[in-house]
Amino acid sequence: MTGAGNGGRPPSTGAGPLTMVLATANADKAREIVAIVADTAGDAIELRPRPTDIADVEETGDTLEENARLKGYALVHATGLAAIADDTGLEVDALLGAPGVFSARFAGENASYADNVDKLLSELASVGATGPDGRRARFRTVAVACFPDRGDVVAHGVVEGLIAEERRGSGGFGYDPVFVPDGGDGRTYAEMTVAEKSALSHRGKAFRALTSGLLSR
Ligand code: IMP
Repeated sequence: MTGAGNGGRPPSTGAGPLTMVLATANADKAREIVAIVADTAGDAIELRPRPTDIADVEETGDTLEENARLKGYALVHATGLAAIADDTGLEVDALLGAPGVFSARFAGENASYADNVDKLLSELASVGATGPDGRRARFRTVAVACFPDRGDVVAHGVVEGLIAEERRGSGGFGYDPVFVPDGGDGRTYAEMTVAEKSALSHRGKAFRALTSGLLSR
């Protein structure tokens, strides 16, 4: 399900482009977000890259939405500009919703993407999760636009799918090599181009909804 809701005062897009700074420090996510926002908003939103001298924001929230807001408002305070941020989690039914909000740190504080995928596959093997019923999962993204007056706009994007038995594909990032979205043709996200992934992905849904919400105000 996707949707945009207004958590505060609406932004004005009446005169010229809405200038926003991208809060994510993750280049893989930034590449996708920039393309999705440009496809949806054209020139109506000018998205600036995150300044390199800003320290990483600790994701101490209990929910994706709290973490997205923490990241967004950190950039608002640092730059004085409106900011666009997101937080994403992979929820695996056989692991009772893990890794969820801990997706980046599933295999430890400084875990690599490969470490996290290894841990996911080994945990699924250890609980005997096989076949479509045992491998059910979903990616969930919360996207937020934060404004200096503390108004914000929130949108959600969810994609159901299955965790593959083994890695497939060399594109994408994170858990992409083992996530097979419903509504696709059986390929993992990592077997798709960036545009194919964004057309059906959790992040694509969330940022299309967020962008449309911003433009319609
Ligand atoms: P973040 O907290 O939103 O940066 O994302 C948490 C972790 O989820 C990332 O470090 C990735 O490992 C994973 N992740 C986020 N988005 C995606 C995606 O689109 N595909 C695969 N993995 C993702």
